[in-house]
Amino acid sequence: MKENLELILRNASEEINNAQSMQNLEDIKLKYLSRKGELNSIKKNLKDLSDEDKRIIGALANKVSNELEELITNKNEEIYKKELNIKLNQEKIDITLPSDYRPQGKVHPLTQTVNEIVEIFQGMGFSLVRPENSPEVETEYINFDMLNFPPDHPAKDMQDTFYTKVAPNVILRSQTSGAQIRQMLNQKPPVRVISPGRVYRCESVSARKNNLFHQIEGLLVDTNISFGDLKGILNEFVRIYFGSNRPTRFRASYFPFTEPSAEVDVQCIMCGGKGCRTCSGTGWLEVLGSGMVHANVLRNVGIDPEVYSGFAFGMGVERLTMLKYAINDIRLFFNNDIRFLKQF
Ligand SMILES: [Zn+2]
Repeated sequence: MKENLELILRNASEEINNAQSMQNLEDIKLKYLSRKGELNSIKKNLKDLSDEDKRIIGALANKVSNELEELITNKNEEIYKKELNIKLNQEKIDITLPSDYRPQGKVHPLTQTVNEIVEIFQGMGFSLVRPENSPEVETEYINFDMLNFPPDHPAKDMQDTFYTKVAPNVILRSQTSGAQIRQMLNQKPPVRVISPGRVYRCESVSARKNNLFHQIEGLLVDTNISFGDLKGILNEFVRIYFGSNRPTRFRASYFPFTEPSAEVDVQCIMCGGKGCRTCSGTGWLEVLGSGMVHANVLRNVGIDPEVYSGFAFGMGVERLTMLKYAINDIRLFFNNDIRFLKQF
């Protein structure tokens, strides 16, 4: 039996040494080391031997078994490395090959304007309104009623505002001013926020009008806020956005949610005030609407107008971008024409 074991060791070692693949090794393992393998059949016959022989042959059988296991493990490692190297050589990547050209994207001009304006107001202590206070799908109640629109105001007409089928009186907001209401319902004064976002109006699309556009709304409510504060903040904004030494004027206007109200004009950046086609010969360009927050609006959100006052303003992002870069058609912003977009 000792000779049998030595023969097994010799034969198996040679087969392992000659193995070419992992599958070969599996077969060899099965042949010699499995439950039905040659070593095991010798171990099964140990019971017929004397105690002395049992001890010697048993130990030898275990030794052969361990040796073969080790040989197989080493060979396995060797084959694995060899196969890996073949694979690496066959699949190597040629890093000298020119790559696909992928043009680099840019920030959309409207987003650039929003970022620029938000940064200007952040510099004056305004913070961004929380997104949950500025939803695009809004109720008529917040978008109009809370903002002191009379029930028969023409803006509430189906022809001007997009109504949804979500529920009665749920609309796509027609202005970002609803964010003022939500912010004041959730925050007691002092309030000093800015709220950029998309708004929707049911208009016939032209070079000057689109169904979707962007506004930036600002609101400041605190004690002792006057129209002088409004003028100071908005003059400073115009100075930074359009460049210094450009005159502004405040023109009396009307909005349901502010009283008094004013349109803010800046001296025409095309003609410098002489009068041209862009400014329709007036020398002035309208850039935003503003006013002191109406006492009714403050009452609607539970703020005492005897104690607090404030101002609000809103501007069209498309309009400000068009003025700054002399763009003559609002639809260009939404056509995704790379030749247009890469100029900014
Ligand atoms: Zn002009």
